[in-house]
Amino acid sequence: MSVYIRSHELRVSAVREMVLAQACLLKQPFTASQLEESCRTEHISTGTVYNALNLFVEAEIVKIYDRGYGQTATEYELNTTASRSHMQLICRKCGRRATFYDKAIMRLITERKYANFNMQNYTLVVYGECKICRRLAVKKK
Ligand SMILES: [Zn+2]
Repeated sequence: MSVYIRSHELRVSAVREMVLAQACLLKQPFTASQLEESCRTEHISTGTVYNALNLFVEAEIVKIYDRGYGQTATEYELNTTASRSHMQLICRKCGRRATFYDKAIMRLITERKYANFNMQNYTLVVYGECKICRRLAVKKK
């Protein structure tokens, strides 16, 4: 059973990568239906596209574009790391990502001065094993 879940999750995350790749190809900002349309050539279902898009927003990979007054459909745009420093936890087993902000560490990094280099932003990535994968590993024993 756990083998099934794991291979299924890997397949799901591979599809998500494909959705993200399509989002990168689109003119920014884009609507969910534009993304869905470009994913159709990859045979990705509508539900999968919308689920992936929600996850991307949650993980701050994609942000909702605010056009302000007169906006008819929700528009999205890729949240380039260039616009914002952040920290990520990445599970080596399943690829789950979580964004986190540790004020103490962020203060340390931003106060740091590097010779001949003017820091604009940064991404700190922490690799490990997520709660779900740890639980699956414990169950197997
Ligand atoms: Zn995991």
